[in-house]
Amino acid sequence: MINIFDLSKQELVRWCSDMGEPPFRASQLTKWIHGKGVLDFERMSNISTKFKGLLLEHSRILIPEIIQHQKALDGTSKLLLKLESGEMIESVIIPEGERLTACISSQVGCAVDCSFCATGNNGFKKNLSLGEIISQIWIMNNLLGPAKITNVVMMGMGEPLLNYSNLKNALALFLSDDGYGLSKRKVTVSTSGVVPFIYKLKEDCPVSLAVSLHSGNNDLRNKLVPINKKYPLEQLMEACWEYQKSAPRGFITMEITLLNGVNDEENHAIEIIKLIEKYKVSVKFNLIPYNPYSGGLFETPALKRIERYRRALQGAGQIVTIRKTRGDDVSGACGQLAGSFLSRIKQNNGPKDKIQRLGVL
Ligand code: SAH
Ligand code: SF4
Repeated sequence: MINIFDLSKQELVRWCSDMGEPPFRASQLTKWIHGKGVLDFERMSNISTKFKGLLLEHSRILIPEIIQHQKALDGTSKLLLKLESGEMIESVIIPEGERLTACISSQVGCAVDCSFCATGNNGFKKNLSLGEIISQIWIMNNLLGPAKITNVVMMGMGEPLLNYSNLKNALALFLSDDGYGLSKRKVTVSTSGVVPFIYKLKEDCPVSLAVSLHSGNNDLRNKLVPINKKYPLEQLMEACWEYQKSAPRGFITMEITLLNGVNDEENHAIEIIKLIEKYKVSVKFNLIPYNPYSGGLFETPALKRIERYRRALQGAGQIVTIRKTRGDDVSGACGQLAGSFLSRIKQNNGPKDKIQRLGVL
């Protein structure tokens, strides 16, 4: 029994052909399921009765169960979904003017373990399957309000580039006219900097790229984003330079989570400017004031520190936005996603101890 949500386009074509059907059946099925949101084979009017019978006998459609749908005061809502394995994931829906952005998870937990991230602090559990990634947008489009998702950001739980093959197939479906019909500029992959897969993404499916930079100095970045020890800033900047040639709008978004007293001084901003100028990378900056979570180690900088940091970047001619904290009252903001029901924040060391161990203060 196969779960149709788990099949890539090529796999679905092959499966249809194994069932004695022509390749275009795959495209018809995709249009029904993802384009129109229809899961009931009986309603698929251009599918033959014989094939409907085969579908009923040999396939199933499995989507995660909605355990909770919480709405924040600003309209942002957070979905808690239960996978077949029993694990929980979270996805966030962010309305803004005409836009309705889906913030999608790619893994349960995350192995990168950035020091300021609730998902990472919970450890890595598993990669989401293709079906589990795609179901998140399917549920938003078909089981929630009438509005359809216009933008996707892979900024939920997990490091998308460490679940590359499922990510690649999910992106194909986001972009496909049979599927969700989104343009490359409306789909963003955010990465902590898994350099080899930045090159692969450029070749396979160059959607918009956001890099979680946080610091322009290897010593500090090693402590905040441990994967920096494997792929230091020099390698990351070279990859960004290559990627921007194929990036939908010719630039890369640099995300900077601002942590009070850690990476939010003017000289930190200047260090970053020097780095991107050295590597000639075209960027836009997105500043994310630290979102606190239970067991978290850091503090959110005061507004005047954030403004000072912003001015330092702008003074160097950079475009900077400050990410509004969305969905704060449902813990739906960046880095607060932790599969709350299962969350097991490591308690063995108090926050202060860990900060000292990290040596960032
Ligand atoms: N793993 C990917 C995408 C998911 S995290 C990545 O790291 O890019 C999405 C964004 O949220 C990243 O820029 C990350 O640095 C940021 N983030 C994580 N925890 C945060 C927190 N507690 N406060 C603010 N931003 C956070
Ligand atoms: Fe993983 Fe991103 Fe969190 Fe780092 S910030 S631990 S890469 S999800």
